[in-house]
This record gives sequence, structure tokens and C-alpha cells, in this order.
Amino acid sequence: MSATTTEAHPDLIAQARAIVDNVRSGSRVALGRAITLIESNAAKHAPLAEEVIRQALPYAGHSIRVGITGVPGAGKSTFIEAFGTMLCREGKRVAVLAVDPSSTVTHGSVLGDKTRMEMLCREENCFIRPSPSSGTLGGVTRKSRETIILCEAAGYPIILVETVGVGQSETAVRSMVDFFLVLLIAGAGDELQGIKKGIIELADTILITKADGENKPRTDMTRAEFERVLHYLSSPTPGWRPEVLTCSSLEGIGIREVWDVIGRFCEYTQKSGFFTDNRRQQTLDWIEDMLSQQLWDDFIRNEGVREHWPQVEQAVLTGQLSATAAWKQLFNAYTNTHD
Ligand code: GDP
Repeated sequence: MSATTTEAHPDLIAQARAIVDNVRSGSRVALGRAITLIESNAAKHAPLAEEVIRQALPYAGHSIRVGITGVPGAGKSTFIEAFGTMLCREGKRVAVLAVDPSSTVTHGSVLGDKTRMEMLCREENCFIRPSPSSGTLGGVTRKSRETIILCEAAGYPIILVETVGVGQSETAVRSMVDFFLVLLIAGAGDELQGIKKGIIELADTILITKADGENKPRTDMTRAEFERVLHYLSSPTPGWRPEVLTCSSLEGIGIREVWDVIGRFCEYTQKSGFFTDNRRQQTLDWIEDMLSQQLWDDFIRNEGVREHWPQVEQAVLTGQLSATAAWKQLFNAYTNTHD
């Protein structure tokens, strides 16, 4: 286990200081390199990465973190392109990050393979970073949290975290942002959109996309339906009633309204104290995630566990050992060899 709490070596501290200074100077190249460092899975990079995050933390936190989710095809990248470009052209600096759990399993990626956000990529005020490409969802989200810290230290006051509306990634992203936006297509049917009550309950605002042309009446109907549905669901943010909006990213309609609702949300939650309370709670969740990840890594690397694992696995597969007995054997192997 790396020494997180002990004093780092003076050379390492100086090296991290230089990296953080460069990141704070506003250089996108320096920010990109710092993120590559913290995304590295090489053990030799871990102490420097930890020190960089430690030194960046005092400069972080001054942003609005916005999570954006929706199934593939919901219009996420087209929306982020329109929304991000609008903000950048008003002189606001925007960082766009992705959390794409699919890449860890399939080695392809739902979010990253297409040529996306070409217009936004060219904006001076924008920084775009694709999803870290290896590890478990836990690993990906840990790195994403640290990437948010680095972007904030680099002076990005608006952080957009995009994720696909499948699996566990929404809950993971929800736990690292202030405001959560769920994108839906009108009339696509619940099944297609993977709409479970749970996902809607994560939303601070629902945005019905592609409200243009022949699709416009359908988006208005869907909006009215969701307004009714939301009435009966609990809100993730106490006292805040989630809004339902429509937009056409292609025609640039309804995009400003999303920024306005985020403004109202910030004003409300900052006044009520929820904004700060929520971030503190999220920090506790982050610590818990890191602990689980560290303990799991420690467990599967443990000598005793590695020695016993094949025979335990075999015994379970042949029906000779129950799950509970298997768990006990492995855990005993771990505690007996753990110093
Ligand atoms: P993502 O997979 O969620 O990132 O979805 P995309 O942004 O790639 O959009 C999927 C498809 O919907 C693309 O063919 C887009 O051109 C189209 N699309 C996205 N936004 C709009 C919109 O506002 N209006 C219309 N008519 N089509 C849109």
C-alpha cells in the first residue's frame, strides 16, 4: 500500500509543485499531462499522482459540476456541443469529461469512438477529455473525480461529466456532481430508453431532446407526461422540484434555458445549504469508494488468497463448496497471511 499519509520526499513535492503550477497557469497541454499521470495504472506513478492531487485540492471546488446522461442516441454529444459552445463564446471556460464504463468491458467505447463535438473542440475556452480507458467502474470513477479536481485547479468553473445511460455509471456520476441532467427522446418508449424510476429520481432536470420538425408535438406531449410523473417521485435535492425542458440542439432552441435552470438550482441550493452539505457527503462517499477499491486490490493481490483461489473456485464450480464456505476459506487465507 502506498504511503498516503506520511510526508512525501522533498523531490516529489517539488515535482508535484511544478506540475500543479503549470496546470494552474491555464495550459491545456499541462492539464492533459497531469490527467494522464493520475490515470496511469503504473505503481511507480502513484506517489507523484497522489502528491499532485494533494497539492491541487486547495485550488479545487470552485465550479458547478454537471452530470449529463442519456442512452446512446439520446443526443448527448450534440447537446454538449451546442451548450458548451454557447458558454465558451460567452467567455466561460468549460471542461467536458466522460465516464464510459463500456470501454472497460468491451475495449470499445460508447462515448468515445465517434467523431464528436468537432465545433466545441476548436473553442479556446474548452477542454475535452475522453473516459479513462481501463479498470473497473470504481477505478474509472475514482480517476474521474481526480480529473474534476485538476480541471477546477486549472480554473474551469463549469465541468460537464457525460455518461451513458446504461448500467451503474449514472449512480456513480450522480455521486460526483452537483446537478444531474437526464436526456430523453420523446416517444421512444420506456424500454428503449432504459427508463427506470430510479434514473428519473436521480434527475435535477429532465431534458427532452430533438424538439424540432415533425418531432416537436411529440416532445411537448412527453414533457407534459414527465411533469405529471415527477409530481409523484421524490427529488434527489431536498426542496428542489425537478424541471422538464425541451430543446433542439441542432436548431439551438432551448439551450440557454438549461443554463438558466442550472443558475436557479445553484442559487436555491447555495441558499438552503444543500450545495455544501452535498459536496461534503460526496467527499465521504469518495473516501468509501477509495477504501473499497484499495481493500479489494489488497485482497486479490494477497499471497494466501492467490494460493487458495484456484482450488476454491474449482470446488465451487463442481458443487463441492458453498458460496459462504468459499468466502470464509478465502477470507481466512487473507487474514492469516495479512500483516
Ligand atoms: P449520443 O449518442 O447521446 O451522444 O447522441 P448524438 O448526439 O450522437 O445524437 C444521435 C443522433 O440524433 C444524431 O444523428 C444527431 O444528429 C441526432 N440529434 C441530436 N440532437 C438533435 C436535435 O436537436 N434534433 C434532431 N432532429 N436530431 C438530433
